Amino acid sequence: MTTAGDTAGRPPAALRTEALEQLLTERGLIDPAALDGIITEYETNVGPLNGAKVVAKAWTDPEYRRRLLEDGTAAIKELGFSGPQGEHIVVVENTATTHHVVVCTLCSCYPWPVLGLPPSWYKDPAYRSRVVREPRAVLSEMGLELDDDVQITVHDSTSEVRWLVLPERPPGTEHLSEEELVPLVTRDSMVGVAKAEAP
Ligand code: FE
Repeated sequence: MTTAGDTAGRPPAALRTEALEQLLTERGLIDPAALDGIITEYETNVGPLNGAKVVAKAWTDPEYRRRLLEDGTAAIKELGFSGPQGEHIVVVENTATTHHVVVCTLCSCYPWPVLGLPPSWYKDPAYRSRVVREPRAVLSEMGLELDDDVQITVHDSTSEVRWLVLPERPPGTEHLSEEELVPLVTRDSMVGVAKAEAP
């Protein structure tokens, strides 16, 4: 809990959130222990490893890949991943000529069941506004240089839809098994601000 003395330098959103939580707790509308439980679950148990398993399976199982692109939510649930912020997940596939990148321009909507909680840069107003206007420049600043002939599509999350990028399988990984591919799939590659790289 925050007291008046230690608010200096803290972001207004954090202060608002704490004030709201305190108010709702005082009125008996929420249970702070239950809230902490949810946060711990998504910070420690649910993270990008889930998404990496989905991607590695899609890379090695063409039939699963087809189902994943057709109905992301259902195919992801096949692997046991579902829950809040994952009720409607759409999967888009990056190729040599098409690149997808995800943002939430309004706030920080993110597919929790497969990626966990969003990183701070995803919530940064600069990323949220600029990636829509100048995606190629923003990706370049984040270390991803795309050729001029690669078509970039930016997907803006809404209250309805969460997006997951299926990155390209890195060249030279044909001999790797599904399990061996999992560690190559990074969080950033599933948001579309990086590529999956060969080991
Ligand atoms: Fe949002």
